[in-house]
This record gives sequence, C-alpha cells and structure tokens, in this order.
Amino acid sequence: MTDTAIPAGAGAPASPSVAANGFVSLGLAPELLQAVSSLGFTAPTAVQDRVIPLAMGQGASQDGFIDLMVSSQTGSGKTAAFLLPVLHTLLAQHEQKKDQERAAFERACAEAEAKGQPAPRRPKRKNPLMARHFEPAVPGALVLCPTRELAQQVAHDAIDLVQHCKGLRIASVVGGMPYQRQIAQLQNANLVVATPGRLLDLQRSGQLKLDEVQFLVVDEADRMLDLGFSDDLAEIHRLTAQRHQTMMFSATFAPRIQQLAMRVMHDGGSGVQRVQIDSPQEKHENIKQVLYWADNAQHKRALLDHWLRDAQMDQAIVFASTQIECDALAGDLQQAGFSAVALHGALSQGLRNRRLMALRRGQVQILVATDVAARGIDVPTITHVFNFGLPMKAEDYTHRIGRTGRAGRQGLAVTFAEFRDRRRIFDIETFTRQPFETAVVPGLEPTQRPPQPMRARRPEGAGRGHGGGRPGYGGGQRREGFSHRRDDQRGPQAAFGEGRFAPAGRRGESQNRERPRAGGRAGASRSRGMR
Ligand code: AMP
Repeated sequence: MTDTAIPAGAGAPASPSVAANGFVSLGLAPELLQAVSSLGFTAPTAVQDRVIPLAMGQGASQDGFIDLMVSSQTGSGKTAAFLLPVLHTLLAQHEQKKDQERAAFERACAEAEAKGQPAPRRPKRKNPLMARHFEPAVPGALVLCPTRELAQQVAHDAIDLVQHCKGLRIASVVGGMPYQRQIAQLQNANLVVATPGRLLDLQRSGQLKLDEVQFLVVDEADRMLDLGFSDDLAEIHRLTAQRHQTMMFSATFAPRIQQLAMRVMHDGGSGVQRVQIDSPQEKHENIKQVLYWADNAQHKRALLDHWLRDAQMDQAIVFASTQIECDALAGDLQQAGFSAVALHGALSQGLRNRRLMALRRGQVQILVATDVAARGIDVPTITHVFNFGLPMKAEDYTHRIGRTGRAGRQGLAVTFAEFRDRRRIFDIETFTRQPFETAVVPGLEPTQRPPQPMRARRPEGAGRGHGGGRPGYGGGQRREGFSHRRDDQRGPQAAFGEGRFAPAGRRGESQNRERPRAGGRAGASRSRGMR
C-alpha cells in the first residue's frame, strides 16, 4: 500500500494561508490541507498530531498500516484525526485509478489509430439512481458510530473535509432514515459512516458490499458496547476481514474495551499501537463544574429554573435520566416560557434531525436530552450543560459536560443532585478524579446539611450561601475566561425575561414548531427507564 502515498506538497501549489498551516508537516494531500484551512483549523490538535502520522503508516512495517487504539474524548478533534489519514489514502487511490483509466483509454486510442479505426468513445457516465444501473456500493472505508446523531455529525465532518477533493463520495447509513434515500446516497460512496444495525441490514439485502473495505474505524467504542453492538461489531469484523487497518477510538481503555479490541484488531491486537491523549478537554480545564444539592425533585426544578434565566446563557443542554423525564421536563420548560425541545431515542429520526438542526441554527435555546441522543452533538454555542437527572454511569458525566466548552471556548456544567444521589456523585468524583465544587443559590438553599464525607476538598467560598449563588460570578468573584458580560446586581428575578431566549433575530422560530407530538410519549411507556 505504500505506493499510494501522496508526497507532501504534491499536486496544486498551496496558497499562502495553506502553506502556513500547521497541518502541512503531517504530509496530507493538498486538497485536504486546503479543506482544513477553509475550516479555519490552523494547527492540528494533540490527538491529530499524534494519530495522523501513525495512521498514515509512520513507523509501520511492510504493508504500511498499523492498527490504532486511541483514547480521546469528543471535543478533542478526534474525528478529523481518523478522517484525514483515511481520506488521504482514498484520495491517492482514486487519483491512481483515474490515471490508470486515462492511460488505458489513451492506449486504446493509439491502437485504434494504428489500425486505422475510429477512436473509441469514452464510456458514458451512468446515472446511478436509475434502477437498471444499480450496483451495490463498495466503500473503501467504513466508520462505525454508536448513535445516529454521531454518525451524521461524522459524515458531515467528512463532507467538509472532501470539499476540495474531486470524486470522493461520503455516505451516511443510519437507522430511522428512508431506505430508498440511503441506497441512492450510497452509490459510488468511497467512505461510509454508519450505525451497525442499518449497515448490516443493507449488507444483507445486497445494497452494500463490505469486501473492499480497507479501513475500519470504530468511534466511541465504549458506547458501542453499552448499546449492545458487540455482536454486530463481530459480524462487521468478519465481513471486512480483508481490511488493512482498524482504528478504535474510545474515551477509556477499560478492560471490556480491551476485550473488544482484541476481537476486532488484526492478530488479536498483538500489533496494535495505543495512543493516550491527555488533552485539556479530557481534564475539562475549560469547563467550570459546579454541584447544587437539592432536597427533592421540586427543589431541583427551582434551581434549574433559576439557572436557565442566567443572562450569560446562549444555548444549553439539560440532561434527563429517562425518556419520560426528558419529555416531561421539556414540556414543563415550554410551559414556563422557555424555548425547549426534547431529544431522545424514542423519537423518530426525522424529528431528532429537525430538532438538532433547530438547535444548531439557534432556533431553539434549550435541548432536553437523554445520554443516547446527545452523543455527537457538536454545537459550539452551547454555553451551559445541566445535569438535571444524573447519568447512569460515571463516565457518561464526562461525555455530557463535553457538549459545552467546545472548539476552544469556555463552558459551564451545573449538576443538581438530591442527597440520596450521593453515591452516584461520589462515583463521578472518583471517575473524574476531581471533587465537585458545591454552591447554593440564596433563597434556594437545601434544608438538609449537604453530605460531607464524600467531599475530598471544599473550594474556598463555595457552599456557604453567599456570593450571588453562582460561583465565580456573584459577589465579585468573576470567573476568568467565561467572558460574557453579566450585571452582578441582577438576581434571578431581575433577569427574568431578559436572560431568557428571545424569539427574534436568528432565533426566529416559534417554539411551537418544535413542540413534542401530542402526548409526546410515543414509545415512552415501553421504554420506561431506557435512555
Ligand atoms: P471532535 O472531537 O472531532 O468532535 O471535534 C471537536 C470540534 O473541534 C469540532 O467542532 C471540530 O470542527 C473542531 N476541530 C477539529 N480539529 C480542529 C483543529 N485542528 N483546529 C480547530 N478546531 C478543530
């Protein structure tokens, strides 16, 4: 495979802005350098810097590719870290194929001329959308994602990265979308981003062949296991046995992930290279985290209401524990005048897409979501994440708060917990190796004493019921870096109606447009407790 490598700087000369780009030294194709430059990426992130050269074969033996197992959080730039090297090779192969076809055609023309025959015609491009021209898609690369939202986000990123590459096609294959549209989209796809279930459906019905896949990427492998995709992964592993490279991205290297890796890596994982990225995102240095103890559910709701009127808030995600809680809370917030919509796994994919799009466009201010639906949400204007219902697993906390503080911005993660939740709070602190900073809102203090033994450290000034109730904001303690303007004199009541989402300007859509379906609980009764 080494013959397909494109030398750095080959092809079209780089523009001055591209030439100064920190990606140049990674040896990527000029078309991809142009794309990262167009996207405003001036230098690779830590994970990109480490993974791209390795994925492109740096230090590899004969066949040019090594299997990688990368520990990296969302928000660290991991998507481009696996897409860029894969697209680089696909692009080189595509160019090579075109050169071969061109050479064969020129040879045929020369032969015809030598025989005194008319020059052969170039083969006509067939419309792949016509049934009689149907051929199964044979992608060269496959990216597997645990959720539809993540798959669509990754496909979107891939389309951005091939914006200057002629002839490279990207397709996404996710459940809940009309089959016909997906099949049409799949035609001639070079890279397919998929959720496992729908991918196997299409493979079994002959719409897609996996026997030319050279690169398999498993994104968010930990979540794949949580969602029970282990058997599907084993099947896809078998169907793509000829591939050259497997890359697995996961937030953690827990033993169960290692077992999965052993199942899907070449030679049982013996040659796999591990990459551990200690990124600022992983430490969440740019995300302020704070915990509020509450007496009961109503108290939590009052605290949430207080926070949702924060004048510094642009957009927010409120996490709920269950689909039922998610629907109920979104409805409740709408009643209270907020621009809020629910997002969870029981909603139709079309509705999920529309709601996410409304969030991206700023037409909706608050997304109330469960863990499953929130994966892959990459909206830089999300300033606040609220944990209204605690996550089932401690590591989900890390994923949740990673929805804010994206693309180098500051974020705020607020967790509400009842005293009976203290074991789960402790688990989160153990997992993150970081004690929570606690705070109270004046007038909304818990009546019980907050549980003490689990606090490893009590930050100065926190949890004492003064200072405006918002650590780092009130009482003159402005938090460095989270730089929105705030009038410290205004309490939550003063902020009422001002800090709230105003349905004007770029947020012009009426909240009713995104109101959940009547009842809003389709599937909820059967999925009580499901995320
Ligand atoms: P990811 O971890 O892949 O979800 O990426 C998180 C965010 O970082 C996305 O909005 C990307 O567009 C952005 N991003 C990725 N790579 C870079 C880079 N090198 N420079 C700036 N932003 C980036």
